[in-house]
Amino acid sequence: MNGLRVSNLSYQFGEKTALDNVGFSLDQGDFCALLGPNGAGKSTLFNLLTRLFVAGQGQISIAGHDLQKDPRAALATLGIVFQQTTLDLDLTILQNLRYFAALHGISGRDRNRRIGRVLDRMQIADRAGEKARTLNGGHKRRTEIARALLHDPKVLLLDEPTVGLDAAARQAITNHVHSLSSDGTTVLWATHLADEVWPDDRLIILHNSRVLADGRAKDICGGDTLENHFLRVTT
Ligand code: ADP
Ligand code: MG
Repeated sequence: MNGLRVSNLSYQFGEKTALDNVGFSLDQGDFCALLGPNGAGKSTLFNLLTRLFVAGQGQISIAGHDLQKDPRAALATLGIVFQQTTLDLDLTILQNLRYFAALHGISGRDRNRRIGRVLDRMQIADRAGEKARTLNGGHKRRTEIARALLHDPKVLLLDEPTVGLDAAARQAITNHVHSLSSDGTTVLWATHLADEVWPDDRLIILHNSRVLADGRAKDICGGDTLENHFLRVTT
């Protein structure tokens, strides 16, 4: 089975529960927003999915690979945009992408074709020669998304890619994020801002380490706006 499957996932920092029996299932090509206030457990979930942390309890299957039994196969199918920027600021966009390609054993004409494609897709081809340090926050994020797409991941994880951006860049990145599953990639995208979630999005609300709701955003909030609903259930 492809997609992303999580069941009975729990994690503790000492006495503190960061995830409590979390489960959900995304089919191949699904797009899903993971909405939760600060401290809900979103990054803990991502750290478990990327195996920076090892779960105390639960199962994770990524593109059909069990993360515990076959971590190399599972992780090879993942694309990741972490909450903190991980670009090398002293390299250009192009150099950052080439470095990542080398890590994945992508070279030659294939490398150049893939780099051209992701630059076009994220609309940053004209800035490829600019140093990452000189880019604004939105273009840094576009570069990180381009990098995460370079090896054709089956499952793409994005942890709050719009945090710290101005309104226009936030809107642009939110639009880009919503387009990322169009080629059959499974996308799990974390945010704490209800206004970035669209009515037709699949939505999981995470609060106090647990899944509060899982469904279509407009169904979850009933007749209310998602912002109001989210405020009501998380405060
Ligand atoms: P989110 O990404 O949704 O803001 P996190 O997954 O970062 O939430 O945090 C979930 C909970 O775990 C919070 O209560 C947070 O304070 C706690 N936490 C996160 N990282 C650590 C850590 N390294 N040590 C102890 N507690 C942590
Ligand atoms: Mg976080």
